[in-house]
Amino acid sequence: MPTATPHPREPDVLPLLRQGLTNSEIDRRIGVDHRQVARIRHAHGIPNIACSEWRARVDHPQGRKIRLLLDEGYTNAEISRRTGADAQTVARAREAGAFGPPTIPPAPPPRRIPAPGRTLTARWASRLQLVDGGHLVWTGTRSRRGGGSPIIKAGDRNLSAGHLSYTWATGRPPVGHVHPGCGYPGCLAPAHLEDAGDRTRTRRAVRAVLVQDEAPAVCRRGHDQRKAGRFDPDGHAHCAVCRRDGARARRAG
Ligand SMILES: [Zn+2]
Ligand SMILES: [Zn+2]
Repeated sequence: MPTATPHPREPDVLPLLRQGLTNSEIDRRIGVDHRQVARIRHAHGIPNIACSEWRARVDHPQGRKIRLLLDEGYTNAEISRRTGADAQTVARAREAGAFGPPTIPPAPPPRRIPAPGRTLTARWASRLQLVDGGHLVWTGTRSRRGGGSPIIKAGDRNLSAGHLSYTWATGRPPVGHVHPGCGYPGCLAPAHLEDAGDRTRTRRAVRAVLVQDEAPAVCRRGHDQRKAGRFDPDGHAHCAVCRRDGARARRAG
């Protein structure tokens, strides 16, 4: 209860106490000695809890939702995005509630994907022909260089039709070359396409089932297989450097 002789600055101090500022914050802000602030706090029965706790408890209208999301393990940034609270507020609530670090990894940043564009998609689709087995073969232009791979013109650029199929099907650009995993030559059915990463995963899985041992760390000629190691469709491991050198030697005669 208020003392008989209230501090002359009490009307200035009380609103700040009720906002949850600490004694020393009020001292710094309006120049009332923190011991005097403590006395006023005590006289009015305003709890002296840590600033961070107080704010997390009373300050934010989304406090409940923030704590639920913290409990589920989201990052500060994600909670901030979902509740509209700034990340500082979320960080304070995390600290005050001892929620610990987030357990749900942050969402990956959106990737840049070439926008399908109505005319490009329509032109791409019109050049594909459905054949038995659900494969799609290309009836459009092929590149003169690069083994006659299917291409489609976009402005003054030639885009790889397989690259586009893959990107639109998976939402990400392919790594390395795109090949039909179905085995139908030249198939461009989006669901049938594999990039280098898909092939390595598939073939490693095949290898695990059929061959049941680890690929060697180095090949017979000592190339590092973490870099040059590849898998054949049947799961057998080979060295890409040795295979390339072998092909060159054969061509040379
Ligand atoms: Zn196919
Ligand atoms: Zn090798």
